[in-house]
Amino acid sequence: MNPPERVLIAEDDNVMRLILEKHLSNWGYAAVTVKDGEEALREMEGEEPPRLMLLDWEMPRVDGVEVCRRLRARDNSDPPYIIMVTAKDNAGDMVTCLDAGASDCIRKPFDRDELLARMRVGERTLQLQAQLNEARRKMTQLAMYDALTGIYNRRAAGERLEQELARFRRGGSPLHVGLADLDHFKAVNDQHGHQTGDAVITAFVQGVRSVMRSSDVIGRWGGEEFLIIAPDSATHPNPLFDRILEHTRTLEAPAGEAGVAVRFTVSIGTACAESGETMDDFLLRTDKALYRAKDEGRDRICHAEPGPVKTQTTKPPMPKN
Ligand code: GH3
Ligand code: MG
Ligand code: MG
Ligand code: MG
Repeated sequence: MNPPERVLIAEDDNVMRLILEKHLSNWGYAAVTVKDGEEALREMEGEEPPRLMLLDWEMPRVDGVEVCRRLRARDNSDPPYIIMVTAKDNAGDMVTCLDAGASDCIRKPFDRDELLARMRVGERTLQLQAQLNEARRKMTQLAMYDALTGIYNRRAAGERLEQELARFRRGGSPLHVGLADLDHFKAVNDQHGHQTGDAVITAFVQGVRSVMRSSDVIGRWGGEEFLIIAPDSATHPNPLFDRILEHTRTLEAPAGEAGVAVRFTVSIGTACAESGETMDDFLLRTDKALYRAKDEGRDRICHAEPGPVKTQTTKPPMPKN
């Protein structure tokens, strides 16, 4: 069973506050009571603030309309549902309430059943809002992360690199990137099946994460190719890439039906960002270094020559799948 919905009652009149509290408790809500707008705002700044509010208009210190304004001014994707309960009763007052950001208004003295019905509307609205936020969270997840490994996908990794390059250009510390491509991966798939291939990719990613710092980033650049961003790295060449190379040699992926553990290696091209270089040129230098690592026999690291490289195209290199 869900815990009772917590509802904030902000009301300076003791009798009215007690009446509201009593009704709410009869209806199964958990009331949180405060006596003025300032306390209400403080309560709403807490870690898990109530999502439904019954707000009096005229209160000492900060009045209800001002509370609405301040709450709505906050950057909040999950705003509370605010019902103003007010003795003011002309149409203009209602407009003021709603324009200030109240979700609904009810006049004092109120009809008990009407208040309950309006609170239920509030609950339904909050439920829809929560569903919408959850859907948005899932869409962001899908748009940013690779489904197999849970790391950044190509787009998100590219955006992250843009940010890190911008930071570097503003005079930040050196920025290294690596493009890491699993060796003879097609043969893994051919010999052990696609599932084992997937297990190799997952094992590699876990391995990299276990040797990188929390400020380092790994993204899936293509099928079995990964972009590794190492900001803030004073030493050149960055020892992270040696750790990845060596650690990968020790990894084993759970074997498929054949019952043998699969070992694998990786080739890595790395580059250190140069000022005045575009992201495309930076990645092109890195990619060339990766090609060299492949050409020279795989299972090794090659560091890019300092840029800029003369380019024929400004497009970023495509993953070699
Ligand atoms: P090299 O050492 O030159 O990199 O050779 P390679 O075999 O690793 O490279 P190649 O580009 O020939 O093959 C990459 C293979 O990766 C082909 C593609 O089917 C496979 N692949 C891409 N994405 C996935 C995936 O998500 N899961 C699995 N199991 N295989 C994938
Ligand atoms: Mg009052
Ligand atoms: Mg490969
Ligand atoms: Mg590849």
